[in-house]
Amino acid sequence: MRKEHLNDIEIQQYVFQKEDCDSGLISHMHSCETCRSQAEHYTFLFKEFSQQEKPVFDFDLAGIVMEQLPQSEVAREKTASRFLVFSVIFSVSALLYFGGNQLLNLFTTIKPLSIGLIIISVLGLFGFLSADMCRQYRARVKALNF
Ligand SMILES: [Zn+2]
Repeated sequence: MRKEHLNDIEIQQYVFQKEDCDSGLISHMHSCETCRSQAEHYTFLFKEFSQQEKPVFDFDLAGIVMEQLPQSEVAREKTASRFLVFSVIFSVSALLYFGGNQLLNLFTTIKPLSIGLIIISVLGLFGFLSADMCRQYRARVKALNF
């Protein structure tokens, strides 16, 4: 059994994860009135905290933020993103429809140098688009005055 009192972390561990406590900690808790009293306080506190209502805004935060954004820019971005999604779906569909048979033979007949160039191009495009997305995010945060 331990002679010194338990610290707050050990008492909280006893309260919430009693099964993970070592036997010395548990035996001290059973024999020490001070530590047991602190454990009861923690139990009471966390029981009271769990019974509290979760705070909620009594107003529509998302609506207020959206009202402050320039509406024409929001609508333009929605249209642009829809056009982008549509064009990607259309392009992939057309590629699969017209060149599906040749796509199956693509990776068996293509040279490794070509595969490397394709991978470099895709990674470059991905990097460019990621940088552009970060730039747009920073501009939006700046517009919100954060
Ligand atoms: Zn103690």
